[in-house]
Amino acid sequence: MRLGLIGGTFDPIHYGHLVTAEVARYELRLAKVVFVPAGQPPHKPGRQVSPALHRVAMVRLALTSNPHFELSTMEVERPGPSYTVDTVKEFQRLYREAEIWFITGADAVAEVPTWNRAEELLQLCRLVAVARPGYTLRGCAGKQTELPDLWRKIHVMQVPGVAVSSTEIREWVRMGKPIKYLLPEPVEEYIAQHGLYCG
Ligand code: NAP
Repeated sequence: MRLGLIGGTFDPIHYGHLVTAEVARYELRLAKVVFVPAGQPPHKPGRQVSPALHRVAMVRLALTSNPHFELSTMEVERPGPSYTVDTVKEFQRLYREAEIWFITGADAVAEVPTWNRAEELLQLCRLVAVARPGYTLRGCAGKQTELPDLWRKIHVMQVPGVAVSSTEIREWVRMGKPIKYLLPEPVEEYIAQHGLYCG
């Protein structure tokens, strides 16, 4: 069976992530898609990321209406930086027969050659780079020689209607602009209740 893992900081989760997971499930014939919020994003030592408690709570609220979606708190419970290779290995141990497809943003995939044990990761799973309409993996071109296997293993998936980004949502909240229709209502309510992204 094919198992989809969708990784991200999810600060906050929005409809772009949800549409992506559903399109990937359908197109790649995934048995289910597990959302894996990153604990300590290894590449963001300088950026303030909301506490995992909030990010996980928002993902949980967003997933209730799709029986094919699940949440894993594996990365937030694991101490230290959240290396994708460790996560994929753990899912392989849990689902021995599964073929794992790791889905994330194309901008993040462009950086894969710099990820921890990238070659090992590429042996373990297929990567799905989610591209906003019009995006190309141009930025990775210079890194081709380092990991030739990368390009064969990447499945680029163009998802219509995912122009929304977590960065914009945080910015809009900070400016007092409405975020309605960009993310599920319970997530919007959670952000307001907890005063996230205001400061
Ligand atoms: P990011 O830098 O926050 O995101 C890069 C871009 O990709 C943003 O435009 C982001 O949009 C988009 N994106 C991120 N996740 C997405 C998703 N699931 N679906 C669609 N678009 C997505 O990247 P990140 O979230 O921190 O990292 C992405 C994944 O890569 C995480 O699972 C992280 O653990 C993993 N990672 C692993 C390593 C490593 O093992 N060394 C290093 C870096 C990243 P939004 O802001 O709207 O989400």
